[in-house]
Amino acid sequence: MPATIDLHCHSTISDGLFSPPELVAHAVQRGIKVLALTDHDDMGGLEAAREAALQHGIRFVNGVEISVTWKKRTLHIVGLKVDPNYVPLKNALDLVRTGRDERAREMGDDLARVGIQGAYEGAKKIAANSIITRTHFARFLVDNKHAKDTKSVFKKYLVKGKPGFVEHQWMDLETAVTLIKDSGGIAVIAHPGRYDLGMINMHLLMHEFRSYGGVAIEVVTGSHTPPQYQQFAKIAHRFSLKSSLGSDFHGHGVSYMDMGYISELPENCVPVWDDWEEAAYL
Ligand code: AMP
Ligand code: MN
Ligand code: MN
Ligand code: MN
Repeated sequence: MPATIDLHCHSTISDGLFSPPELVAHAVQRGIKVLALTDHDDMGGLEAAREAALQHGIRFVNGVEISVTWKKRTLHIVGLKVDPNYVPLKNALDLVRTGRDERAREMGDDLARVGIQGAYEGAKKIAANSIITRTHFARFLVDNKHAKDTKSVFKKYLVKGKPGFVEHQWMDLETAVTLIKDSGGIAVIAHPGRYDLGMINMHLLMHEFRSYGGVAIEVVTGSHTPPQYQQFAKIAHRFSLKSSLGSDFHGHGVSYMDMGYISELPENCVPVWDDWEEAAYL
């Protein structure tokens, strides 16, 4: 049975294809009963999504996915049940978003060096009013026939050592976890299987994250394989962390997975929602 909870997805506020109300309607159609919207570095979609969820009769959880730099690597920390009106968190995210534009210009300059002109302007146009991300550059590169799909873009471009990659300093881990916590939220390490950390650094990360007040890790996500569900269930247990679950849906053709297909958590996990009132609706 697929899970009826989804605690990780994106709207047009960041790099998703559906507006917040469209995303909620899609979740409803896919059988989701409890949904969190977790746009990158932006809480601007939460109000509209919550309103739509209320109309459709599903439960909505405020969320955000914060870009973090830890040991020179980019990690993503999901905040669940964050308060979108908590000023220190809002201000810190404003700062991250400002940095994104400067980074995007440099990405455009780097792509121009390999003969790809107008990438910044093109990606900016696709992003419209949302923040600018590598996903928007990927869509520009696909539209202009530099790659056949998003997946192949991230093999040839925009990743370390390839054209269009720019090193960037995001929020630090302690700040992200602390801001989430102080806003009344729960910090979750997003898709830990994607960071290529090695065992020592992975354990160091879990330890450090917990010491700042981090609560959970994503065990089941659209970007983990089933063996990774088991691997991270064990790590969660070992570090006394709860487990989260989310599709990381961005829209058809730009995501690992659609909503409503994702497996339930392995049995030995403590769900991050185990003490939430929303759990009664699952
Ligand atoms: P940014 O935050 O600007 O670095 O953009 C990161 C986003 O790019 C992620 O949230 C994904 O949506 C997308 N992305 C990164 N790597 C891949 C990949 N290998 N395949 C598809 N999308 C990716
Ligand atoms: Mn994304
Ligand atoms: Mn992510
Ligand atoms: Mn995501």
